[in-house]
Amino acid sequence: MDPNTPSLLEPEEHVLSTLERDGSRRWLRPKLSKGRFLTLRRWVGYALIALFTLLPYLKINGKPAVLLDVIHRDFYIFGGNFRPTDTLLLALLMVTTVLTIFLVTALLGRVWCGWACPQTVYMEFIFRPIERLFDGRKGVGGKPARPPAAWRTGAKYIVFLLICVHLAHIFMAYFVGVDQLFAWSRGNPLNHPFAFLIIAAVVTLMMFDFCFFREQLCIVACPYGRLQSVMVDERSMIISYDPARGEPRGKLGRKKRDALADKGKPEAERTVSLDIMERFGGDCIDCHECVTTCPTGIDIREGLQLECIGCAQCIDACDPIMDKIGRPRGLIRYTSQEALKGKHKRLLRPRVLIYPAIILAVASLFLFLLMTKPPADVTLLRQAGKPYLTLASGEVQNTLRLRIVNRDHTTHNYTVAVKSPDDVTISMTNSDSITLGPGKSYTEPVRVTADPGQFRQGRLQVVLTVTDGDDFSTDETFELLGPRAQARDEHPDDSEPDHD
Ligand code: SF4
Ligand code: SF4
Repeated sequence: MDPNTPSLLEPEEHVLSTLERDGSRRWLRPKLSKGRFLTLRRWVGYALIALFTLLPYLKINGKPAVLLDVIHRDFYIFGGNFRPTDTLLLALLMVTTVLTIFLVTALLGRVWCGWACPQTVYMEFIFRPIERLFDGRKGVGGKPARPPAAWRTGAKYIVFLLICVHLAHIFMAYFVGVDQLFAWSRGNPLNHPFAFLIIAAVVTLMMFDFCFFREQLCIVACPYGRLQSVMVDERSMIISYDPARGEPRGKLGRKKRDALADKGKPEAERTVSLDIMERFGGDCIDCHECVTTCPTGIDIREGLQLECIGCAQCIDACDPIMDKIGRPRGLIRYTSQEALKGKHKRLLRPRVLIYPAIILAVASLFLFLLMTKPPADVTLLRQAGKPYLTLASGEVQNTLRLRIVNRDHTTHNYTVAVKSPDDVTISMTNSDSITLGPGKSYTEPVRVTADPGQFRQGRLQVVLTVTDGDDFSTDETFELLGPRAQARDEHPDDSEPDHD
């Protein structure tokens, strides 16, 4: 087919910045634009990489600063110990995080994406620089001057693979802890195949992402990016091109240069006529520097776009151009859509007042619950199997499962006793008390024995006290099961029918 003949399926307009008109992928090799924002982003990016790498090694009260032990359902977050039973605390933490994201986005658009998202940070400050090192960037728009030699490409992917293996191990450390990870790393992978498979899967996903998928993750896969349109508004400070200043755009010929020099001067002092000013008066010289530097391949001059990740590379590209042509910086800048329309810049509006108010309330409640959380969790459950036993003595015995979690930073010795009613006795199966180290948990079967005459309708409510003999003491109410017939014989007034 003649390549010049338009295809029947060819789109009428531009669909995606990374799609050619025939539907094939347009590979991006954004030109690096050095400038104040790149320098700042590098500092932030490398600080975040250092934090991500070091956090699993940091310990608070002898426990990792962050450990998400999914297998044992035990989570440590900056000194706080959370368990699946902490549903309310975890929910409050999640609500606080989500609302903070809403607030930051309402104020500064996709600042997270451009400055702190691991995808951007690792792509732009680790993988892309290595790629430029191996492929070169002496060609047009910062691209390689010629296709790189095979050995260079091979070496580049080997370095990528090593970095991904390293990152996957750090990622794993957040779930199993560094001590366990080091132990596994020294042993045979066949001794821990599940962990080995997870690391292999993470490495594969990272290689797929950083070698192939790249900006597609931000453009088509990330749900946060898709939600931008509802989170930002006309007053959000986002990176924008100023069309009132930039248009009409045009290449920098002599006439345009003169028109730009005359801009802002009183009419009497101008050297070019008004119609020339109108044709060439825009500050944008259509040099495409802001386009070739964009990591998502968009043209910021087309207005607010979902693909923009707020990386500020277009600002760093355009500012030096403005310096060169003697125009003020900021043709592309952080500003609001409202300010671009010439309205007064106002950051305050209902949503940026309501979000912080809710965040404050939810975060305060979270902190209060965290600070007043008891130093131990106690759970009483019925043992599976027969609900009760009638002993040779005629007494009724229920076996319960007592689970204690020591949330404190020191070891405690827990005992359990019957608070009420009288004449009910309790015995632990394995010992008289339970000794637990910091963060440890234990489940012990306990036998509670009562006289059958104490049961009403086959039920008897008991209160057990669990204490560490020190600061901690809690009462747990539990309903014992027993024979109904006996209860009816001894208490003829209880005439309700037995439905069991
Ligand atoms: S870098 Fe600035 S001057 Fe060049 S095309 Fe972009 S907006 Fe116009
Ligand atoms: S338009 Fe500018 S800020 Fe947005 S992604 Fe492209 S270079 Fe980054």
